[in-house]
Amino acid sequence: MRCDELRQQMLDGAPADAAAHEHIASCPECRDEFGFVTTMRQAHPEPSAALRERVLGRPRRRFRWSVAAVAASIALALGAGFVGGRAFPQPPRVEIRSVVVQRPMDDREVFCTALALLSVYKSQIDCEFSGMTCTRIKADRDVMKMLPYCPVIQNMDRVMHERPELVVFR
Ligand SMILES: [Zn+2]
Repeated sequence: MRCDELRQQMLDGAPADAAAHEHIASCPECRDEFGFVTTMRQAHPEPSAALRERVLGRPRRRFRWSVAAVAASIALALGAGFVGGRAFPQPPRVEIRSVVVQRPMDDREVFCTALALLSVYKSQIDCEFSGMTCTRIKADRDVMKMLPYCPVIQNMDRVMHERPELVVFR
């Protein structure tokens, strides 16, 4: 086998046969470029029946794609890039950053908080409304003792910080 025949065989995605392994063993240039095939052969002398079935059992188009993709990822992992550089240009690097934005409470959230406060703390809290807008929350100071335990009071605490004009203690 000649160098160019081996290269063509590898780029076609055909499994390396005995002739290919023989050439790789005897040609330093090809060993540099395709030596991982021999290494893999030594680590896994024969592909398992399941793998053979999975790869060879597929329609030709997908077979070629999957073998080419495996070859590309091996090449990229080794830094060789002989297939990756040609057939699989690297996608642009995308950085994803997560940003947490806490927006101020709007009227609807204050309204829902007021309804929850009324249903849970009806003897200790009074609320005034104008239509669907809560205009005032009047609370006994004692309810703040529940702050560490009660999500409804935690919401009221948010209202106190973000809409301080709405909350009064009596
Ligand atoms: Zn060669």
